[in-house]
Amino acid sequence: MNLKKDKIYNGFRLEDERQIEDINSIARVFYHEKSGARLFHLENDDDNKVFSITFRTPPEDSTGVAHIVEHSVLCGSRQFPMKEPFVELVKGSLNTYLNAMTFPDKTMYPVASRNEKDFHNLMNVYLDAVFYPNIGACPETLMQEGWHYELESKEGEITYKGVVYNEMKGVFSSPDAILDQKTFETLFPESAYGVESGGDPDDIPQLTQEKFVQFHKQYYHPSNSYIFLYGDLDIEENIKFLDEAYLNKFEKIQVTSQIALQPAFAQKVEKIFDYPIAPAENKEDKTFLSMNFVLGQATDSEMCLSFQILEYLLLETPAAPLKNVLLEAGLGKDVVGTFVPSILQPTFGVVVTGANEEQKQQFIQVVEQELKRLVSEGIDKKLIEACINIFEFTLREGNYGNRPKGLVYNIKCMDSWIYDESPVIHLEYTSILKKIKSALTTNYFEQLIEKYLINNNHQALVILRPKHGLTEEKDEMVREKLASYKASLSSVEIDKLVEQTMELKRRQETIDSPEALATIPLLALADIEKQAEELPLVEKEEKGVSVLQHSLYTNDIAYVNMYFDTHLVPQKQLPYVYLLAEILGKVATQEYDYAELSNEINIHTGGIGCDVTVYTENENDEKYLSKFLVKGKSLVEKLPNLFKLFEQIIAHSCFDNSKRMQELVQEIKSNWDMNLFRRGQQLATNRVLSYFSPIAQYNEVGMLQFYNFIADLEANFATRSTELYSNLEQVAKLIFNKENLLISVTAEEENYSKFKKCFSDFHACLTSNKVLAEQYNLAATQRNEGLMTAGKVQYVVKGANFRKLGYSYHGSLKVLETILRYDYLWTRVRVQGGAYGGFAKFERNGNMVFGSYRDPNLKETLVVYDETSAYLRKFAVDQREMTKYIIGTMSQVDTPLTPSQKGERATNQYIRKISQTKIQQERNEILATKQADISKLANLVDEAMQQNYLCVFGNEQKIKENQNLFNQVISVLK
Ligand SMILES: [Zn+2]
Repeated sequence: MNLKKDKIYNGFRLEDERQIEDINSIARVFYHEKSGARLFHLENDDDNKVFSITFRTPPEDSTGVAHIVEHSVLCGSRQFPMKEPFVELVKGSLNTYLNAMTFPDKTMYPVASRNEKDFHNLMNVYLDAVFYPNIGACPETLMQEGWHYELESKEGEITYKGVVYNEMKGVFSSPDAILDQKTFETLFPESAYGVESGGDPDDIPQLTQEKFVQFHKQYYHPSNSYIFLYGDLDIEENIKFLDEAYLNKFEKIQVTSQIALQPAFAQKVEKIFDYPIAPAENKEDKTFLSMNFVLGQATDSEMCLSFQILEYLLLETPAAPLKNVLLEAGLGKDVVGTFVPSILQPTFGVVVTGANEEQKQQFIQVVEQELKRLVSEGIDKKLIEACINIFEFTLREGNYGNRPKGLVYNIKCMDSWIYDESPVIHLEYTSILKKIKSALTTNYFEQLIEKYLINNNHQALVILRPKHGLTEEKDEMVREKLASYKASLSSVEIDKLVEQTMELKRRQETIDSPEALATIPLLALADIEKQAEELPLVEKEEKGVSVLQHSLYTNDIAYVNMYFDTHLVPQKQLPYVYLLAEILGKVATQEYDYAELSNEINIHTGGIGCDVTVYTENENDEKYLSKFLVKGKSLVEKLPNLFKLFEQIIAHSCFDNSKRMQELVQEIKSNWDMNLFRRGQQLATNRVLSYFSPIAQYNEVGMLQFYNFIADLEANFATRSTELYSNLEQVAKLIFNKENLLISVTAEEENYSKFKKCFSDFHACLTSNKVLAEQYNLAATQRNEGLMTAGKVQYVVKGANFRKLGYSYHGSLKVLETILRYDYLWTRVRVQGGAYGGFAKFERNGNMVFGSYRDPNLKETLVVYDETSAYLRKFAVDQREMTKYIIGTMSQVDTPLTPSQKGERATNQYIRKISQTKIQQERNEILATKQADISKLANLVDEAMQQNYLCVFGNEQKIKENQNLFNQVISVLK
C-alpha cells in the first residue's frame, strides 16, 4: 500500500509511517481530523487480524465505575438492541479473541478473527457498543453488572448482588491481590493509581446511576479514543468504514483524562494492613513483607525494558542474588519480584512471602545491604548475559500461546501511546537491547540500581498480616448495614424493593426477540472449513527410541519434548514424580551449581521445563498413561548445548543438598498457599472427578493431595529429608529410562538431521530398564466434600461419567458446552446468580463436569445444574440460533496454534491414539448438530446429575451453613 505522509484518507491524516523490522510490520499513525480520534495501524501478513478501541479512563474512586461501564456497554446498543450483544458474539462468531479489559487508567475493547467478514462484524458491534450503549435508558444494567439491593420477599434479608461486585470479591480472595491493591494505594495516594479501577467490594455500592452514566459520557468520545488495527487487512477500506459509520458523526471535544503524576515522596513511607485467613489456618509464617519503588515514566522505553530484565535478574532466576540472599537470611518462604510497566509511573517491588512481622527490620537491612553490595562489587557478568539473552530469545520468538500476536503488540503500544508518546517506542527493541548489552562491559545495571532503588525516596514498605475472622467481621458489618438500611425503609418502599428484584429477574429471563437477535450479523455454515486440519507428524526411530517429527516453519528454533512414561514408579512414590517436575533444573548437577545451571540454560536455550501429564487412551478413562515431560527449545545451532543441558539435568542432578532442597520445598509450598484460591475451579473440578474416575485419581496426586504432601514435607523437613533424597533419586532412575521414552521434535524439515546427531550423542545417558509396569490401586469413593477456605466466594462443581451410564461421546456435546455456557448457565448462574461465570465440559473419555466460577451461591447453583435437563427438554431455537451455536463451537475447535502448540497437539493425539478419522468425525458431528440432538441430551445430563457427585471449594461459613449437602467438610489451607 502506498500512502503519503500528511495526506488525508477518509478523514484520517497520516501523521507517521515507518518500517519496524523487529516485528516485521509497517507502522502508521493516523489522526481523524473531525472527531479527534487517533489510529495506529500495523500492517503485516498475519491473518489473525486485531481491532481494538481504547479509552483513557482514570478513575477517581474505588467504586469500580470504569470496570462496570466496561461490562455494561456490551449489554445492548443502538443498532443491537438486545440484552447482551457480547454474548451473542461469543456464541456465534469465529473470533480468535473477544474480550474487554479494565486497566488502572484505560479501558480496552479488543477483537480478533481470521475471517474477514467476521472481523468486520465484530468491529461494528464493538464500535456501536462503546459509542451508543443503552446504559442510560435502562437502570437494570448497572443493577445487574455492578450492584443492587436484592430482596426476594418482604420478610427476607437484603443482600448486595451484581456481577462485578462478586467478581471483585473473588479477586480479593487471594492475599497477593490484596497486597497489590494496598501497595498501589500507598505508592500513589494522590493519583488514579491509588484507587481500585476494578472496584473494591466495600465501595462498589456507592456508585450511583448518575455517576455511572456520567463516566461514560465523559470518557467514551472519539477525542479520547485510541483505535488499533493489525494484520493482513485493507487499511483504506477499514478507515473508510470507521469514518463513515461512526467517527464523522462526532465533533472534536476537549476531554480531560490526562493521568496526573504522583509527586515523588520526600520521605519513604511504611504501612501495615491485614488480610483474612480461615479459623483453622495457622497464623505463623503468613505475613507478606514488601518493598516497593516508583520508577521513572513509562515513556522511557529503555528504562522499561532494562528494568524488566533487572527484575528477572535480581529476583526471578534461580541465580538471582537478591532473592538468594533473602532466602539465606531465613526471611520467609519465598521471594518474588514485581515490575508493573503498564502505568504512567512503572513500579518495582521485592516481596517476601511466608514471613513474620518481627522480621521487618532485618528485611529492610538485607535488601539495602545487598543492593549496595551489588553496586560496589558489580553484578556477575555471566548472570547479566544470561538474563539479556533469555529476554532476547523470547522477543524474537514472539510466541504468545493462545493470545493473538497483534493483541500483545496492542497492549505494549498503549504503554507509550496513552501517555502522549509515539505508539512504536516499545515495539522497536533491537536498538534498546543494543544499549542494554553495554552492561556486559560497563556498570549499566549497577547505575540503574543506584538511581532507581538506592537513591529513590519514592518507596514504600508495605506489610500484610494474616488476621482470623476478618471475612466474618466484614460479612457481619455488611449484614448490619443492610439490616439498618431495611429498617429505614417504609413498608411501601420494601414492597417496591421486592417488586424491583422480581422485575430484574423477569427481565433477565426474558428472551430477546428474533428481530433483535437478527440484528447481530452472522456467518453461514458454508463459511466454515469442512475438513479438519491434519497436523504434521512422521513417526521415526532413532537409537531404538520412537521420535515424532513435526516439520513446520519455526524460524530456526527447535522445540524438543521428551515424554517419559512413569509407569515403573510404585504408587506410594507418585507424589515424588510431581515434586521432581518442580525441582529439576533448579538443583545442582554434576558439572554446575544451581545458579550456574540456570545461567547456562538462559545463555544457550529459550528455556527448559518439566511437567507431568496424565492422558486417557482414546475413550477409556480407566486406561491412563502418565508422562513425565522434559521440554526445551533453542536455536537449531544451539541444539548441542540444549542436549548437553538435558543430560546434566536428567542424568546428573544432585538431590542431596539439604539447604537447597529445603528452599525449594518452601518455595513450592508458599506458591501453593498464595495461588490456592485462584486455582479453586481446577482443584474442585478434578476433585469431583476423582470420586469415580481413575485418571482423575491419578491427577489428584498432583493437586490437593500434592499440596498436603508438600505441606507435610515442609513442616517435617528435618526428619524427612533423607527419605526425600533417596525417593527422588529412585524415581528419577525409574523415569529416565530409554524404554519409556517418546520424543517429539518440531522444527523445519531440513533441521531434523541436527537433532538426530545431538540425540545419538545424548541417548547413552539414559538407563535401560525393561521391568514391568506397576499396578496401581486407585480406589474411588463418593466423598462429596466441602473444601473450606477464607475466600469470599465459591466454586461449585458437579460431575459424572456419561460412558458409565451407557452413553457415548458425540460432537453435539461440544455444541452443548457452548449452549450451556453462553445461554443456560450464563443466565442462571451469572446474570441471575451473580457469579462470574458457569460452564459445562464433556470429555471424550466420558468425564463431564458442571462448574461455577467466583460464585456467591452454593445450593442454589446445584439446583440450577439439576434443572438443566428440564431446560434441554424444552430447548427450542430456530435454525439461525442453531447455526450461531455451531459457529461459536467451531471457533473454539479452530483456535489458531503456534508451531510448538501444533507439535504438542499432534503428539497428544498420538499418545491418546485419537485418529484423524475420529477428529474429522467429531467435526462432522458438530457441523451437523440439530436442535433435536440437543434436546436428546437431556437424559444424559439428567442421569449424570442424579449421580450426585459434588464438590464445593470456597467460603468456610457458607460451606458450614450447607453442611448437610456434604459427606465431609475439610479445611484446605495448612
Ligand atoms: Zn469484569
